[in-house]
Amino acid sequence: MLEWGLTKLAKADKNPYICSLYLKVLTVFSEYIIPFSSLRPGKNSFSYVAEAPFFKEFEHSVIQNAKINIEVVVDKHSTMLVFDFGIKGEVISECDRCSDEIKVALENTEKLIVKFGDKTFEEETEEIIVLPHGTQEINIAPYLYEFIHLSMPQRKTHENEKDCNQLVLQKLNELKGDKKSTTMDPRWEVLKNLQL
Ligand SMILES: [Zn+2]
Repeated sequence: MLEWGLTKLAKADKNPYICSLYLKVLTVFSEYIIPFSSLRPGKNSFSYVAEAPFFKEFEHSVIQNAKINIEVVVDKHSTMLVFDFGIKGEVISECDRCSDEIKVALENTEKLIVKFGDKTFEEETEEIIVLPHGTQEINIAPYLYEFIHLSMPQRKTHENEKDCNQLVLQKLNELKGDKKSTTMDPRWEVLKNLQL
């Protein structure tokens, strides 16, 4: 099980613990290694499908089950690499209104620019990472994980409230009603403040 994040990857070389995690990522997700040094200049395409086993490897994954198609185009320039990610698929999630299982459609594009050199001179941002000169490959699994999570909508519900689990909604409404009845009648609240 792995805990991983984009920022952690960027800091991997500074932290021996993260470094060992990085090695684990390399072995678990070997199919996600892109050996860019052997790619021909210009655009190179890769396809992946991320499903439940992919997300299981990340300890705190919000997503447990999904089917996400990922198209990666790597544009190899002489001094840098430009990765374009096309993310499209469905995530099994809980409805925020009724907690029933729903399928949430995802569609997103992300970009990652890989530069080479010394991190102290090259600027790293959310979109730009800097790898040491001579690096031959990159494992894109942690980036895919991050990008897929970023593609999740803030609110996940059945499209129409009438499609929600009506029994659950009814129960929630009852609970709300109970809560109201236990709070004090506002007319008595006024009395409480009077100096008698
Ligand atoms: Zn619902």
